Amino acid sequence: MTAKECIFCEIAAGRAPASVEYEDERAIAFSDINPAAPVHILIVPKKHIASIADLSAEDEPIVGHLVSVAKKLAENRQLEGYKLIFNVGEKGGQVVFHLHLHLLGGWDKKPQNLPG
Ligand code: AMP
Ligand code: ZN
Repeated sequence: MTAKECIFCEIAAGRAPASVEYEDERAIAFSDINPAAPVHILIVPKKHIASIADLSAEDEPIVGHLVSVAKKLAENRQLEGYKLIFNVGEKGGQVVFHLHLHLLGGWDKKPQNLPG
């Protein structure tokens, strides 16, 4: 898939709109367009990797970076608790095939509609 066909590559390149929360040379984070929680941010590598299932050993550090960005965003938002989710593959609920980490939080109490 080329960048032109991938909405998250387009957002990372600044060619498609997004409510950007954070950006550095390796990652961008923006609000989910269809939030499933009071706070729902997607943390996305700038490099196009389709899914965790397609992750190479060489790209492993990118995943650590996504988690670190999520942690910083959660601290900045003063979230007391949150969920970090990778949907992997169609049967894992993945719809956008550019790797992304969901940061979900902001509930008053533990949510009932999500795993855990
Ligand atoms: P997933 O099911 O893990 O592939 O999640 C894809 C997520 O991307 C969904 O929660 C969508 O609401 C979100 N999404 C899709 N397109 C956009 C977009 N243009 N801007 C922000 N979020 C998006
Ligand atoms: Zn992409």
